[in-house]
Amino acid sequence: MSDAHDRLRQYLAQRKEMGEQEFVLDSLSVDEALKVLAFGVTPPAGATPSAARSVDAPPPVRDSEKRRAAEALAGDGDWRKALASVDAGAPAKPAAPARSPEPAPSAPAPAASSEANTSEAPERVALDVGGGSTRSGREDLDTLQAVAAAIAACSACTLAATAINHVPGEGNPNAGFVIVGEAPGATEDELGRPFVGKSGDLLTKIIDAIGFRREDVFICNVLKHRPPGNRNPSPSEIVACRPFLLRQLELLRPRVILALGTFAAQTLLESDSPIGKLRGIEHRYHGIPLVATYHPAALLRNPNWKRPAWEDVQLARRIFDRA
Ligand code: URA
Repeated sequence: MSDAHDRLRQYLAQRKEMGEQEFVLDSLSVDEALKVLAFGVTPPAGATPSAARSVDAPPPVRDSEKRRAAEALAGDGDWRKALASVDAGAPAKPAAPARSPEPAPSAPAPAASSEANTSEAPERVALDVGGGSTRSGREDLDTLQAVAAAIAACSACTLAATAINHVPGEGNPNAGFVIVGEAPGATEDELGRPFVGKSGDLLTKIIDAIGFRREDVFICNVLKHRPPGNRNPSPSEIVACRPFLLRQLELLRPRVILALGTFAAQTLLESDSPIGKLRGIEHRYHGIPLVATYHPAALLRNPNWKRPAWEDVQLARRIFDRA
């Protein structure tokens, strides 16, 4: 026990040396945590160490913490600080049905595509989809550029006809860390790049928070063309596009996949469970470890999900480091 205390004290002291004031995993400041460890000071009310915290009994949230979360939501705060301050246990606000931060589509999305269903306790059952290896059937495409060119020429569904650009994905071709979203939105369609709108800005901060740069990882979507009006992708579109994602994964051979949002998680894991049940555990997708978490657009709408999302991305980072 005292060994663990020493290591934690050392860790906090290092963090302090690096100029950090916040202990990200709970609501203690570094000084408060050091006092608890070194002098046995009782933590301030509501500052229970997160490891001992029950999921059913979240800590109270201070007004200053809420303010910080709101600042981060507005885009000018520090994502990690906001994560430290949000109340993970507050009742989830109903999420807007749109799957992107752009204006809501006129037709409401089906309930399965909403991020809102998180009130039930997560089932700790990992899913294993597709056996040990991928079978894209597109072994003819021997580079990521060749996959991108095939996507540009694809007419297997009708989406290419309405989209401005194809959005194959981008990033480090040797990336061990692959992030998979749902489908391009309006900005992505205009620029031909994934996650470049508001949710992309937040995703970049999330990537940074786990110690990568955006260009270190590979970012793509289940669908490679924008569904008109940001409507939900249809099953036939998903089937038509799947070989491209599988081929990208065959070429990238990632150590871990981070699936963003209900749609990506449910599609890849062939599950209709809500994201609140799929997140937080390590699954397998064609033999590749997969962690699912909330879509950045959902985090922009609901700061209560930032803390679980932070836990998820850290889990994905640990899996990456372990490989
Ligand atoms: N949402 C997604 O799922 N993917 C993008 O590329 C942009 C927004």
